Amino acid sequence: MTTKRIAIIGAGPSGLAQLRAFQSAAAKGENIPEITCFEKQDNWGGLWNYTWRTGLDENGEPVHCSMYRYLWSNGPKEGLEFADYSFEEHFGKQIASYPPRAVLFDYIEGRVNKAGVRDWVRFNTAVRWVAYDDATGLFTVTVHDHSTDHVYSETFDHVIVASGHFSVPNVPHYPGFETFNGRVLHAHDFRDAREFADKDILVMGASYSAEDIGSQCWKYGAKSITSCYRSAPMGFNWPENWEEKPALDRVDGNTAYFKDGSTKQIDAIILCTGYKHFFSFLPDDLRLKTANRLATADLYKGVVWVHNPKLFYLGMQDQWFTFNMFDAQAWWVRDAIMGKIAIPADKQALLDDVRNRETLEDAGEDTKYAIRYQADYVKELVAETDYPSFDIDGACDAFFEWKKHKAKDIMGFRNNSYKSVITGTMAPVHHTPWKDALDDSMEAYLRS
Ligand code: FAD
Ligand code: NAP
Ligand code: MG
Repeated sequence: MTTKRIAIIGAGPSGLAQLRAFQSAAAKGENIPEITCFEKQDNWGGLWNYTWRTGLDENGEPVHCSMYRYLWSNGPKEGLEFADYSFEEHFGKQIASYPPRAVLFDYIEGRVNKAGVRDWVRFNTAVRWVAYDDATGLFTVTVHDHSTDHVYSETFDHVIVASGHFSVPNVPHYPGFETFNGRVLHAHDFRDAREFADKDILVMGASYSAEDIGSQCWKYGAKSITSCYRSAPMGFNWPENWEEKPALDRVDGNTAYFKDGSTKQIDAIILCTGYKHFFSFLPDDLRLKTANRLATADLYKGVVWVHNPKLFYLGMQDQWFTFNMFDAQAWWVRDAIMGKIAIPADKQALLDDVRNRETLEDAGEDTKYAIRYQADYVKELVAETDYPSFDIDGACDAFFEWKKHKAKDIMGFRNNSYKSVITGTMAPVHHTPWKDALDDSMEAYLRS
C-alpha cells in the first residue's frame, strides 16, 4: 500500500497541533502518512507571529496578523496549556497567568521545535486553490511558492484546513465614514496603542477586541474611550474616562451621533466588529460557511466536512478553549486519517451529529453553560485518542474565576493567578500590575 499524503493549510496553533499529533504517533513507532504543511508567512505561529505590517505583506498576500503590540493573553494561560508540554517544561519554572504575545509565541514554538517538525512546513507558500476529483478520490492543491516565485500543484489523499478565522475583517459601514476627519480602521489593522495617546477614540463593538483594544488605548494614554454596542453593553466598571453608549447612528465631521440622541467629539474610530470565516482557496463544494459559534455548521465532531469526509477543518469554532482544543481536534483527525477512528459512512449520521451539537449549544443561555459546553466537546475528543487526559473541569474553574475577576476589576483582572491543571502548581503573581507594565517584552515578563 502506498503511503497516504496529507496537506495541512496553515502553521498557526491549529496546524502545529496537527504536526505534533502526527509526530507523536511516529515517535511511538507508528507508520504515519507523508505530511506537508503549507504556510503563506515566512514563519509559523499564525496570529501569534507578529508583524507591524497591515494591508498586504511583502509577497502581496493579505496580512494575516490581527494581533498588536502590547497584546497580553485575554484569558488565563491555565485554560490553554498543552497537556503534553507544560509552561514549566518550556520556561523551566512556573510563570504568571496572562502572558504577553511574545511569551505565548515562544511557548507555542517550543513544543514544535522539540518535536522537530519544521521540515514538514513549506513557508512563504500560499495555497491558491483546492479541488477534489471524484474519479481519483484525490485533492489537487495549487500553491504559490513566493521564495522561488513558482506556482505548482500536488495531489493529496486528505486536506486539513487550519487557516484560522480571525483574520478577514467584518467591516460595517455607517453614514459619514467617507468624510470623517480622522482615522477609521478595523481591529485587524490596529497595531500600536501609542498612536492614540491624547486622543478621543470611539471603539465599535462589545466583545473581546473592543474591550481589549479600548483597554490598550486607555493604558497607553488615550484621552477618552467611548465604546458603542449593537446588542448589549459590556457593562464593566470602566475607568472614569471610558463611556459606553448605544449603537452608532452616523458621524459628521468629528461628531459621532448615537441612537439615544447623544453625541461625542472623536478623533478616531476603531471597528471592533469581528471577523469572517473566509477561504479564498476553496470551491463551493468544500467551503465552510458558518457563523462564529461553538457548534460550527457542517462539521461532524466539529472537524469532519460532512459533504466530503476526506476534508477536515481545525479550530473553526468560536473559542473559549484554544490550544488544547486544537490539540484534541488534531489528535482526533490524525486517528481518523490513520484508520483508528471510523467516520460513519452514512451521511445522515454526520448531519445528525451537527444538528445535535447546535441544539445543545442553543439550549443554554449563559457564559458558564457555553464554557462547559466547549469543555465537554474537548473531553469527548480527548477520550477517543491518546492525547494526555487532563483536568478539563479544573480549566473551566480557571475560566469561571477569570470571569469574576473581570467583573470586579476590568483593568486589574490580569494581576490574578491560577493553578495549572497540567502540573498542579500555582502561578506566581506578576511582578508589576498590568496597567503599569508598559514594557511587555519576554525578558521583562519573565524577570522575577
Ligand atoms: P491562526 O492563528 O489564524 O493561523 C492560521 C495560519 O494559516 C496563519 O499562519 C496563516 O498565515 C495561514 N494561512 C492562512 N491562509 C493561508 C493560505 N491560503 N495558504 C497558506 N497559509 C495560510 N487565543 C488565546 O488562547 N489567547 C489569547 O489571548 C488570544 N488572543 C487573540 C487576540 C486576537 C487579536 C485574535 C484575533 C485572536 C486571539 N486568540 C487568542 C485566538 C486565536 O484564534 C488562537 O489563539 C489561535 O491563533 C488560532 O490558531 P489557528 O491556527 O486556528 O489560526
Ligand atoms: P467577536 O467576538 O466576533 O465580536 C464582534 C463584535 O462586533 C460583537 O460585539 C458584535 O456585536 C459587533 N458587531 C458586529 N457587526 C457589527 C455592526 N455591523 N455594527 C456594530 N457592531 C457590530 O470578535 P472580536 O471581538 O474581534 O474577537 C475575536 C477573537 O479575538 C476572540 O476569540 C477573542 O478572544 C480574540 N481576541 C483576543 C484578545 C486578547 O487576547 N488580548 C484581544 C482581542 C481579541 P453583536 O454582539 O451585536 O453581534
Ligand atoms: Mg485520551
